[in-house]
Amino acid sequence: MKKKCSFHLTLFVMEITREEDVSVAIDALLECKVKIEHILQGRDLNLQFLGVSEFNNQVVFAKIAEDSAKAKLKEITDTVKNTFKDKELFKIENRSCIPHLTLMKMESAPELQEQGVIIYPSLYRTFKKHYFGNETMSRLDLCSMGKARQPDGYYHTEASIFIGVS
Ligand code: AMP
Repeated sequence: MKKKCSFHLTLFVMEITREEDVSVAIDALLECKVKIEHILQGRDLNLQFLGVSEFNNQVVFAKIAEDSAKAKLKEITDTVKNTFKDKELFKIENRSCIPHLTLMKMESAPELQEQGVIIYPSLYRTFKKHYFGNETMSRLDLCSMGKARQPDGYYHTEASIFIGVS
């Protein structure tokens, strides 16, 4: 199970091969603040987490409820993605973007993963329709998956922008 402080939503994944390009990515992230605030029009983005799903029995995650906030999150994701695409430096992973709040993943237990152990659906069946609560989007981070994690267990963070009114 993940540490609470490392809970996050990944909007998308990209490849930055040269360390010197990180500063370009940071500039792109900073450009996103005004665009996101324009989309939100002074309102908070309050996401509801309802039910669980999985990726290939390897990742179990809380789903985002199908409502207008989820649609806004999609709009924000597309906008941020396009801002990075415009820099023409980054290879953006094309895998279908399903917003997910990871609860557990086999990647965190590489030895078991190597042995072919999976996360059995019986372990989380009772949470299929569970309401986990809600969270207001307050920050967007540019994280590195390739660098060592921070002491609190969260991904190494290159830069952040703060969003919202409250
Ligand atoms: P995290 O971003 O730390 O919450 O980890 C989520 C995990 O889910 C990563 O291992 C991703 O590679 C994986 N993942 C994300 N999106 C998908 C997808 N659409 N299909 C399969 N696996 C995914």
